Amino acid sequence: MKKMEQARRESLLAVYAQQFAGLKRELEQVRYFCKGSVLKRMMKCGQRRCACHQDPAKRHGPYFEWTYKVKGKTVNVRLRPDEAPVYKAATDQYRKLRSLLARMERLSRHAVVRLAEKLRSDNSGPSRTR
Ligand SMILES: [Zn+2]
Repeated sequence: MKKMEQARRESLLAVYAQQFAGLKRELEQVRYFCKGSVLKRMMKCGQRRCACHQDPAKRHGPYFEWTYKVKGKTVNVRLRPDEAPVYKAATDQYRKLRSLLARMERLSRHAVVRLAEKLRSDNSGPSRTR
């Protein structure tokens, strides 16, 4: 039945609109973001006789690096330990933003299909038939 179909579509569109508004609110919470990731490394030094060469637990560090890609090339930036958290937070934000955008895109795709259906059925409705 056409009426039921329309009612179902309207309620779906209302749900989509609500969910989309929720995602936009999450988007508003996004803080500064950076691509890439922050790595924490323990390293061996140049001294052959240092304990770090025998025992992985005695390696030096931690050393932090922010790595990201530019045009397919990886860029590594050495970070001071006290700088690392702010980069870590920013790269986490970037991941959050990406997943948020993916969810918004998926939701929009469903909504657009319904909106297009609605237009189609409005245009082929009784008002247009003679
Ligand atoms: Zn060493």
